[in-house]
Amino acid sequence: MTPMLTFKELASIVHGQVLQQAHNMPVLHLLTDSRKLSQSWGTVFFAIRGKYNNGHKYLAQLYRQGVKTFVVEEGEREALVQQYPEATILQVSDSLEALQKLAAWHRAQFSIPVVGITGSNGKTIVKEWLAQLLSPEELVVKSPRSYNSQLGVPLSVWQISANHTFGVFEAGISQPGEMEKLHSVVQPTLGIFTNVGTAHDEGFSSRRQKVEEKLKLFVGVEKLFYCSDYDALHEAVQAQGIKAFTWSRKKEADVSITATTTAGHRTIVVYTYKGEKQRLALPFTDEASVENALHCLALLLYRGLPLAEIQDRLDRLQPVAMRLEMKEAINGCYLIDDTYNNDLGGLAIALDLLMNQPRRGRRTVILSDLLESGLPEEQLYRQVAGLLQTRGVERLIAIGPTISKYSSLFAVPAAFCDTTAAFLTQFNAGDFRNEVILVKGARVFGFEKIVQAFQQKVHGTVLEVNLDALVHNLNYYRSKLAPDTKLMVMVKAFAYGSGSFEVANLLQFHQVDYLAVAYVDEGVMLREHGISVPIMVMNPSPDSFGKLQQYSLEPEIYSLEQLQAFVAATAGEGQYKIHLKLDTGMHRLGFVHEDFEALFALLQQAPQVQVASAFSHLAGADEALHNDFSQHQIATFRTLAAEVESRLGYAVIKHILNSAGIVRFPEHQLDMVRLGIGLYGVEATGAEQEALRPVSMLKTTVSQVKRIRQGETVGYSRKGIADEDKTIATIAVGYADGYDRRFSNGVGQVLIKGQRCPLIGNVCMDMCMIDVTGVDVKAGDEAVVFGPQLTLVELAKRIGTIPYELLTNVSTRVKRVFFSE
Ligand SMILES: *Cc1c(COP(=O)(O)O)cnc(C)c1O
Repeated sequence: MTPMLTFKELASIVHGQVLQQAHNMPVLHLLTDSRKLSQSWGTVFFAIRGKYNNGHKYLAQLYRQGVKTFVVEEGEREALVQQYPEATILQVSDSLEALQKLAAWHRAQFSIPVVGITGSNGKTIVKEWLAQLLSPEELVVKSPRSYNSQLGVPLSVWQISANHTFGVFEAGISQPGEMEKLHSVVQPTLGIFTNVGTAHDEGFSSRRQKVEEKLKLFVGVEKLFYCSDYDALHEAVQAQGIKAFTWSRKKEADVSITATTTAGHRTIVVYTYKGEKQRLALPFTDEASVENALHCLALLLYRGLPLAEIQDRLDRLQPVAMRLEMKEAINGCYLIDDTYNNDLGGLAIALDLLMNQPRRGRRTVILSDLLESGLPEEQLYRQVAGLLQTRGVERLIAIGPTISKYSSLFAVPAAFCDTTAAFLTQFNAGDFRNEVILVKGARVFGFEKIVQAFQQKVHGTVLEVNLDALVHNLNYYRSKLAPDTKLMVMVKAFAYGSGSFEVANLLQFHQVDYLAVAYVDEGVMLREHGISVPIMVMNPSPDSFGKLQQYSLEPEIYSLEQLQAFVAATAGEGQYKIHLKLDTGMHRLGFVHEDFEALFALLQQAPQVQVASAFSHLAGADEALHNDFSQHQIATFRTLAAEVESRLGYAVIKHILNSAGIVRFPEHQLDMVRLGIGLYGVEATGAEQEALRPVSMLKTTVSQVKRIRQGETVGYSRKGIADEDKTIATIAVGYADGYDRRFSNGVGQVLIKGQRCPLIGNVCMDMCMIDVTGVDVKAGDEAVVFGPQLTLVELAKRIGTIPYELLTNVSTRVKRVFFSE
């Protein structure tokens, strides 16, 4: 066992100044995200100033929750000591750096081999596979999921304990100067450089600079494993004199590959190693997996594993499901499907996510045995039981012989089964109702069968929503905002078709300031799903004013009649916030200057009504053509808003920019901006589309494939005429799903196996037909209606509309699946 770290030692490790020492708690848990607190005793909170947030804002809240040790950058000693009399407080010049120093110190306590992995793609898979391949003799500690950032790496390395015999950590960087820091934290003894791609090129002046920066992870390693066919990489490694172990398909290398051929679902690799010709089968055929596996092979050969043993372990290699999916399930249940892996680090992350879902009836976890944790069994399941309890899990269904053996350790109500099959034979859908269920199992337990049992039966069309992309886009727009500018996000129209409460929940987690919906019912639905962020309702009807109050929703007020009705409905009691809409040229809704006398006279007599904000909407921010008009609107708004404030005698939040406006007129952010379409991946001005990530993908399946002869026709009104013999496929999406009928007869295309196939004939209600002549297609294949390779922008152009319409048209009968990587 490593001795427990005292606060004094922490202070000397990070060169901090002790502002106050109020207790002697040891340093056990590191916390950097206030939302992830699970256990206050022994927790040290590092208040980190990030690009989008500042940890110092959460000290008071954490203190109330029982955290009593802080590492801070900001603040005066006097004030801190007075505000947190029972806290032990350390001040440093840079909290993130302090965290890194602490992790580096921790790492140095262990003399185990550690593999550092970097490269453009495949880091996480190589990490997971190495852990699988080495686990027969090693107790491996590794980064949870893809924790590979300046913050993620120290938190990963902090997990090393005395039981571990081997470490595998991934490191990713996006700009110069970052890798030295990660090197000092990981202190790798071995390295893998997976490949050189184009990701994150923007942070570097050249490809070469990027490679050289990344190589800084490998200073002093005993061996670096990589494919020497990447010329830029190979040259840089040689120039820096890093000790290398290479594999190559083209040149002389430690492992020289002479042939790779596919045989069924396997790839046969023939190579020469130490002058000897050898042959191995890899259990997959795609290029990326083969490359990832060859890195692992190189490392296993270097460690001297016998060939037969390597083959045996490769055969048992499990594909890594990188995705975590969230979806509606039977009986009002909501499923978090995470069969990515099942170790302690991964479980803690999944439980955090469970805890952050809006509450339904109860929180249930279906959990398999944990594999490869490096801890003695009893200690491991004691920790698992603790995690479940601190994360507020209300029911556990545990599957597997080992977890069942330790059933007595679990305090939450639990049922135990030896196998997945046993669980499924007893499965009764009626036992699950209105609950959030985390399904988390190691691959070998085949939990996908459990997920299937919970899935609602739906037709084969799904809208996949990439939550990582959504967060990326959110952060992109945030990076354009001044530190004090507030952010309102538009989640009207089912969050532009993406699914309101899931999106709203994510936005709440990321602490946006306001949400906006079109109608009161949309706001009520969000509140019923546990959304507590302030919500503006843009079009509240007088008959719904009662609900506004009940659900603390804030109305947009745009006319005198509406204000009169609102004032009458709220007379007498309470305080009500409203948002004044000003018409500066859109001519849709809003007050004009002539209304002001009457407007403020009315407000004077209604002390219960408080104006929270005044805003207006740009009519042409997306087009440069209208820049002068937009500027004119902005100037008008500034004047009107100033008058609003002076007449009211207090300040209000002023806002006018939508997504396009944020890009085009950053100097007019005022107090708040209103982000809409940009969040969902469409950059309305077109100028910065590349910076956004596509969020949604509409997918369906092929129902039937048939051959038709020249001259025959397809579909209603016989509009699709075969000008030659053709193969056509019927896919399960039609105008009732929101697939526009204007895509009929070759205007639209869908992607099957990466190939564009045009529509033939008219779009029907639930189906349409596409021309797949020459493409290898069978029933059951997937067809992409829109997605990253077939963009909303392109499709909208094809039928003369805008991406907004395509997105919001996707019918609610299409199932939404949310995933993150
Ligand atoms: C929908 C809407 C927005 C967001 O517009 P985008 O173009 O999607 O960014 C902003 N303000 C108001 C009043 C809206 O109705």
